[in-house]
Amino acid sequence: MTRTRIVLYRLRSMPMSFVTEAEWRTGMTTIRTTCETCGDVELTTADIALELTGSGDEGMYRFVCPSCALLQRRPASQRVVTILLATGVAYEITVDATPITEEEIAHFVAELESDDWFGRLVASDG
Ligand SMILES: [Zn+2]
Repeated sequence: MTRTRIVLYRLRSMPMSFVTEAEWRTGMTTIRTTCETCGDVELTTADIALELTGSGDEGMYRFVCPSCALLQRRPASQRVVTILLATGVAYEITVDATPITEEEIAHFVAELESDDWFGRLVASDG
């Protein structure tokens, strides 16, 4: 798996510390990342969607490569999330739920097939 690499820079080659936050937010922010097939690609904040998990610290970011038009989805570390949010990308929060396993279903079915399942359910309550 390739490492996530995001580089932010302004089109005008002005050091970030020389601009106000408002200028930075409204400025032309280019986000450089990598496409699995094309290599380095340049995107704007409108091209990227951030998917945050329950805690909101980490998640995934996705974009459609401007070169090959393939949808890419990459893990976003806490640092990457912070950077992307600062540039104003759209984000959505998804809640991580553990899927039910076959084992749990089998256990549940076996439980239902036993004669006294209701009595044990009531007994285990509280
Ligand atoms: Zn590509």
